[in-house]
Amino acid sequence: MVELIKTREELSSLLKKTSLAQGLGLVPTMGALHEGHLSLVKLARNYADKVMVSIYVNPLQFGKGEDFDQYPRTLETDLELLEGLADYVWAPNYQDIYPSEPVNIPADSELANKLCGLSRPGHFDGVCTVVKALFDAVQPQYAILGEKDFQQLIIIEEMIKHLDIPVKIIRAPIMREESGLAMSSRNQYLSEPERKQAAAIYTNLQAIANKKLSIEAAISNLSQNKIKTEYLEVHWGRLFFAGKLGKTRLIDNIALDFS
Ligand code: AMP
Repeated sequence: MVELIKTREELSSLLKKTSLAQGLGLVPTMGALHEGHLSLVKLARNYADKVMVSIYVNPLQFGKGEDFDQYPRTLETDLELLEGLADYVWAPNYQDIYPSEPVNIPADSELANKLCGLSRPGHFDGVCTVVKALFDAVQPQYAILGEKDFQQLIIIEEMIKHLDIPVKIIRAPIMREESGLAMSSRNQYLSEPERKQAAAIYTNLQAIANKKLSIEAAISNLSQNKIKTEYLEVHWGRLFFAGKLGKTRLIDNIALDFS
C-alpha cells in the first residue's frame, strides 16, 4: 500500500522511523499524474530502496494570469495510479512546504533568462524555491526529473551544484502519447480536435532534427495546425519548442545529433 502523508510532522516521523539504507528517491510532481510521471517513479526503483512522490501545486512558480487555479488536482486518482509503484506520497499544503516565509532561491540567470524564462518571469525562481524546500524536508539521496522540462532540469542541476546539496539527479526521458504528443497534465485542457493538432509539434521537431525541415517552415506548419509558436530554438544541443494551442501552453524538446 502506498502510504499517504500530508503534514511536515508526519513526514519527519516517517523519515525517523524508516530505514533508508539503500536511499530514498524523490519524484517531485504537481499531481494530475500520467504515464510520464509513472515512468519517473519506475526509474527511481533502479536507484533507490524507497520511492516517495511529492504532489504539490506550487503557487510561487505560477505568474499572474497563468493556470494556478485551474490546474487539475486529482489526488484520489493519483494515489490509485501510484499503488504498487511508490512507497510514499507526500501531499503537503503551503504551511508544510514553507513553515516560515519561503526563502527565495534565485535560478541561475544565464540558464533562466531564455526560453520559458522570457515569457514566465520569476517562474524558475519559484521552481528552485520549492525544489530546495522539498529537498530540505525530505533529504532524498536521489531525485528523478523529466527531460520534458529540460530547462527546469538543468537549472535544478545547477542549483544543486551551487548550493552543494547532497542529492543525485536522475534524468528521465520524455514519455509520449502514441501520436508523439509529449505527455503533460496540461493536455487535459485540450479538446479532441486540439489533441490531434498538437501531434504536429513532435512531427515538426523530428523533421527539423532529421534535417528535413527548416525552423521557419516548421513554424508555418504549426500555425496551420492552429499552434502559435512562442519559441523554436536550439540550446544545449537540443531543439526547444513552446507555443499555444487555444488557451493551452505546450512545451517539448528533442535531442539533436550533430555528427
Ligand atoms: P509536473 O507534475 O508537470 O511538475 O512534472 C513532474 C515531473 O515529471 C517533472 O520532472 C517533469 O519533467 C516530469 N514529466 C512531466 N511530463 C513528463 C513526460 N511526458 N515524460 C517524462 N517526464 C515528464
